[in-house]
Amino acid sequence: MADTLYDTDLIIMGGGPAGCAAARMAASVGMRSILVEPDRLCRNLYRIPVLNNVLGGYTSGPELADSIVAELKSTELCRLELGRRVTELRADDVHVTVTVDTGARLTAPYVIVATGVGPLQPRDATWITAPDGLTLPPLWQAEADDAEGRTLLVLGGDRPIGTFLRANPTADTCLLVAYSAADEYKIEEVREDPRVTLLPVEHLTLRPAEGTGVSAEAMGQGGTPRTITADAAYLSIGNAPTAPPGDLTRGVDGYCPPTDQHPRVIVAGDLRSARFQRIMTALGSGSEAALHAYYEAREVLAKS
Ligand SMILES: Cc1cc2nc3c(=O)[nH]c(=O)nc-3n(C[C@H](O)[C@H](O)[C@H](O)COP(=O)(O)OP(=O)(O)OC[C@H]3O[C@@H](n4cnc5c(N)ncnc54)[C@H](O)[C@@H]3O)c2cc1C
Repeated sequence: MADTLYDTDLIIMGGGPAGCAAARMAASVGMRSILVEPDRLCRNLYRIPVLNNVLGGYTSGPELADSIVAELKSTELCRLELGRRVTELRADDVHVTVTVDTGARLTAPYVIVATGVGPLQPRDATWITAPDGLTLPPLWQAEADDAEGRTLLVLGGDRPIGTFLRANPTADTCLLVAYSAADEYKIEEVREDPRVTLLPVEHLTLRPAEGTGVSAEAMGQGGTPRTITADAAYLSIGNAPTAPPGDLTRGVDGYCPPTDQHPRVIVAGDLRSARFQRIMTALGSGSEAALHAYYEAREVLAKS
């Protein structure tokens, strides 16, 4: 279907379940695609030890990820651009142009944007004051070695704390979980874990890094100040959409509703909305996005 105007029939941004499903579906109807992913394919699934809500008998994230990755790598019509990040997306009447972090530009009639969500940072939480420009990794991405024999300050009480503890059931670690009143209901599932110390706070001020550890001044919910020290700090304050700059329409919450986009831009997976963030919905919406591009392209051809 691609002609000399375009590098490929379909550009896919993001190699999570939505992007991978899009590539498979596109190939099944004969469309060539280029999938751009800065990390490895299905990076998030590799961090989920126990899966919920996935049909087909998969119970572990890595098992499902291995299966998807193997299928993608044998999909000849899909060219994988791993280790590359999209830095800009532009769409006009004729094509979409995607710029990657090498400066290279790719063109296609359609793009599927499936870049998912990423962790909120300390600057996004009103109850945290942090040094300018500080970014921290989410706790659920920490490896056992990052935690073993160490004390970790965890900012926020979001549910991935439970995922981390289940993924590392024998890790000898101490999690100091500083959380605001808004997260009170979320920390119930980890309250009884002896590795967790709960620190309800009204406000927390992270000090600039000195040496290898971290320290913070916390004002407890009862108005009691205390100093917290730890070996490292991680985030568990929730997620925000990871939409690249350019011609994407964002709602007030930062998500990119599929119905509000340029006709050549199709949004799939978690980036659509905070409401449908599941693996099966990502797979379904990615597949649907590829078919949407396919039918749109045929319609255009039929009219010309
Ligand atoms: C700890 C945890 C546990 C979970 N457990 C479950 C569960 O048990 N069951 C369930 O159904 N769901 C679960 N989920 C949710 C599920 O993982 C997501 O709904 C699903 O991964 C969304 O797929 P996606 O393809 O939309 O996005 P993602 O999986 O987030 O993939 C997006 C991809 O886009 C890439 N990307 C980002 N920016 C760019 C860019 N600029 N250019 C190119 N690529 C980019 C990212 O590197 C990433 O690989 C869990 C999530 C977490 C965090």
